Amino acid sequence: MNKAVKNVVIVGGGTAGWISAAVIKRLIGDGVDVNLIESEDIGTVGVGEATIPPIITLNNVLGLDEKEFLRETNATMKLAIKFENWRVKGESYFHTFGAPGKSYAFCHFHHYFKRAQELGLKGSIWDYDLNYLACEAGKFAHIKSPDPIIEMPYAYHFDASLYARFLRRKCEEMGVVRTEGIITSVQQHSDDGFIQSVTLKNGQVINGDLFIDCSGFKGLLTQQTLNTGYEDWSHWLPCDRAVAMPSERFEKTLPYTRSIAHSAGWQWRIPLQHRNGNGLVYSSNYYSDDQALELLSSNLDTKPLADPNFIKFRTGRRRKQWNKNVIAVGLSSGFLEPLESTSIHLIQSAVVRLIHLFPHDGIKQKQVDEYNKQSQLEFEQIRDFIILHYHVNERNDSHFWKDVREMEVPESLTHKIELFKASGNLFREQNDLFLESSWLQVLMGQGVNQQDYHPLAKSLSEQKIMELMQNIKRIKDEPIGKISSHDDFLKQYCGS
Ligand code: FAD
Repeated sequence: MNKAVKNVVIVGGGTAGWISAAVIKRLIGDGVDVNLIESEDIGTVGVGEATIPPIITLNNVLGLDEKEFLRETNATMKLAIKFENWRVKGESYFHTFGAPGKSYAFCHFHHYFKRAQELGLKGSIWDYDLNYLACEAGKFAHIKSPDPIIEMPYAYHFDASLYARFLRRKCEEMGVVRTEGIITSVQQHSDDGFIQSVTLKNGQVINGDLFIDCSGFKGLLTQQTLNTGYEDWSHWLPCDRAVAMPSERFEKTLPYTRSIAHSAGWQWRIPLQHRNGNGLVYSSNYYSDDQALELLSSNLDTKPLADPNFIKFRTGRRRKQWNKNVIAVGLSSGFLEPLESTSIHLIQSAVVRLIHLFPHDGIKQKQVDEYNKQSQLEFEQIRDFIILHYHVNERNDSHFWKDVREMEVPESLTHKIELFKASGNLFREQNDLFLESSWLQVLMGQGVNQQDYHPLAKSLSEQKIMELMQNIKRIKDEPIGKISSHDDFLKQYCGS
């Protein structure tokens, strides 16, 4: 289709729909009309509360004021995820947004740490991570410095429906047109099968040049109309259900998400200002829905606030995220379970990718192919990281854990694990969302031990290496004594 794109139609008003509308309108402005169709009768998936640091860039690009955003979405600050019972029952570790220690002479800190341990150093590598120290102390502050060693990267926990509502207000102020109604049919051009228009239950026809499918798992345009197909990854990630149930807020607001492994799945606990988000992700091969609900209910810290919301899903990705003049964004584009809070990020990166490759002068196949190539790589990299949490475990209390431990995993992941085991080496793959420090924390937390370390770590004398450890520890400890509790921060910063 060589026609210039002047009219973008977004189908769906969940987190995906409103983020897409906000980014496109904000960045392309008067160059395009943006129409969003959603149906209150259908509603949204109703979950999705934890995020990762790139959301801060998104909010900045959208011109959102952080204090207003925190108030409007009942958000709290997130420094990490605490993984409990994942390697074995009764143990936990953190995957923080920070990094332990500091690289030295181009060599990652964990090599020096390993050497120092051999020389008798006590404690864990997390003792050298500012985010971890703040999590343990239940504290938060904006800590920024030209030296990354004293930075504390963060993200948010928020109420996703309030976030969508907040963005809707901003979008309408920018001129996005919202239409309420249920789409009952989709019309395609007879020559090339591109989407021409959608028709609502009340008969209204909405035409578009480019359609963003944010209709949720069903993929109204990408799947139900264009039959794009789905690559199923459930043999690697067998959880296929979730049950979510909010509960009363916990007295003390933790600055991190908790992910608690059970015998066939895991439970999330997400602290918001007004309530806790809770849910259990599980495999229907191992738990019935009733069992899952009972497990979740018996593990809530506080009184439930709503009926359980059961959600079915299939892990994988749409074969082409961009097909003809339809781009699938959000749940319609694929799903990776929320273990590392990556779905909202995938929405963000999809729409940023679209901005880079926006078909101002018409849709060109080369651009479509590039978009699809980048999306595929991104999904696969995140998939591998999530599989790692399951696959490297030492739990012997259920078939589920034994099965995921013994399954064949993608070659790309095996290579990463084996390389780390043999040498301690970690390399960030091209554009991998997760940096070396993320892989390190999860590998170590799941019990993968590096058998060797880089020779550069041997080049320092025993005295020098111990001094290095002491200095870094001092630098990391220092800010913690000066900052306030997470609750006090929220009160002082945004009056929550
Ligand atoms: P939906 O929220 O399902 O929205 C679909 C929209 O399409 C709705 O507005 C609906 O009305 C509209 N629609 C559908 N059909 C029609 C029609 N025929 N006519 C008109 N409108 C229609 N992500 C994270 O980043 N962090 C998390 O912690 C996290 N936790 C999750 C936990 C679970 C159990 C699940 C399942 C997902 C989680 N996610 C998380 C993912 C996150 O919820 C989604 O990525 C996000 O909400 C985007 O959803 P969506 O907008 O694509 O779809």
